[in-house]
Amino acid sequence: MRDTVDVIISGGGLAGLAAAAAFGSAGHGVLCVDPAPPVTDEADPAADLRTTAILQPSADVLAAAGVWDRLLPHAQPLQTMRIVDAGGRVRRDFDAAEVSDRPFGWNFPNWLLRRELTARLADLPAVCFRPGVGTAALVAREVEARVTLTDATRWTARLLVAADGRDSPMRAALGIGARTIDYAQQALVFAVAHDLPHDGVSTEIHDAGGPFTLVPLPDRDGAFRSAVVWMIPTPEARRLAALDAPAFAAAATARSFGLLGELRLVSGRALWPIIARLADRFDGPSAALMAEAAHVVPPIGAQGFNMSMADLGALIDVSARHGLGAPEGLAAYTRRRWPEVAARIAGVDLLNRASRAGASPIRAARAAGLGALHAPAPLRHALMRLGMGMT
Ligand SMILES: Cc1cc2nc3c(=O)[nH]c(=O)nc-3n(C[C@H](O)[C@H](O)[C@H](O)COP(=O)(O)OP(=O)(O)OC[C@H]3O[C@@H](n4cnc5c(N)ncnc54)[C@H](O)[C@@H]3O)c2cc1C
Repeated sequence: MRDTVDVIISGGGLAGLAAAAAFGSAGHGVLCVDPAPPVTDEADPAADLRTTAILQPSADVLAAAGVWDRLLPHAQPLQTMRIVDAGGRVRRDFDAAEVSDRPFGWNFPNWLLRRELTARLADLPAVCFRPGVGTAALVAREVEARVTLTDATRWTARLLVAADGRDSPMRAALGIGARTIDYAQQALVFAVAHDLPHDGVSTEIHDAGGPFTLVPLPDRDGAFRSAVVWMIPTPEARRLAALDAPAFAAAATARSFGLLGELRLVSGRALWPIIARLADRFDGPSAALMAEAAHVVPPIGAQGFNMSMADLGALIDVSARHGLGAPEGLAAYTRRRWPEVAARIAGVDLLNRASRAGASPIRAARAAGLGALHAPAPLRHALMRLGMGMT
């Protein structure tokens, strides 16, 4: 016996939960499964310490999914993107006001995103979210996807959405390959309090080893706060992660060139391995890959989740035009998303390699490139729009 549903979503990470809300809001019956229940409480030791900067186009996708109004009261608006290089001497500011009357993005803790996304799903009667259960097997046919879950129940759906992460079991079941670059770097993730206000400025500091990014958080207990992503070669990242809190905070303050004054550690520290990965295609019979199942990028310029929301917008669109799971719609999805994602991965790869370089011609070129970004307004504005995920 098989149960039937319109859409099965394998994976209830940020991308899978957003996809369940979007397909549910578009009037489809949805089953979303994930073996790992989402952690939605900041105090839980298993809470995800990362934050996500959500850019303008993603806000529109989340609004259509009925999530944005729930999120906005918790947002820290990001008005300006600042890039700092050459020991703090070169600074370039990109103020969203130059190209838009909205901030370029909004920053949220990941645990809070999970809380609000799952709350939205609870409001949608046609969406069933089953944490604790995963997808186990898939037979993908042009007319339907047949999915067996880890609780041995069997389902058919017109569309299977694989949002089950960088090692996607559904991508493997579809026989879709992926190419990977391992940068031998880690992202050290933590939150800090500081003496100087961030003024809604997200600051990316380039120096040897990789970028150090400070993303504004709302003030708390009278203190200014920011989330930090510090990308660094793996041995050095492990050494830093093992330092005691005061020594670690001193190292982070030095690496930030003291731009926000002294940094004080106000969270735990987590390490994330840095890779880039791109699936060979984003569709199979009655199936689509999205988010990290389709692509992984180093955390530079807030591209990962934002590319995932662009995937979701495109999937909803081709499903409305061609019907759920229709082969021509799924082929159109790959044609629309794959080249755009490949170009963004290549851009982030270049930035990461340039940022890792120490004293070298690459580093000089990096500073010169930043200088060029300050020049002619049309080019600068085009680059800003690209960085903000606009087309
Ligand atoms: C340090 C860091 C900072 C970042 N900051 C930003 C940012 O500011 N802006 C931005 O746009 N992006 C950012 N990203 C990227 C972003 O976090 C991810 O792109 C985003 O979380 C999407 O992840 P996902 O849902 O695809 O994967 P995951 O979060 O890995 O979710 C995949 C889910 O699939 C589940 N799963 C696995 N197997 C199965 C199965 N068999 N059945 C069902 N489910 C299964 C897993 O349990 C998991 O919950 C950052 C990434 C890192 C590492």
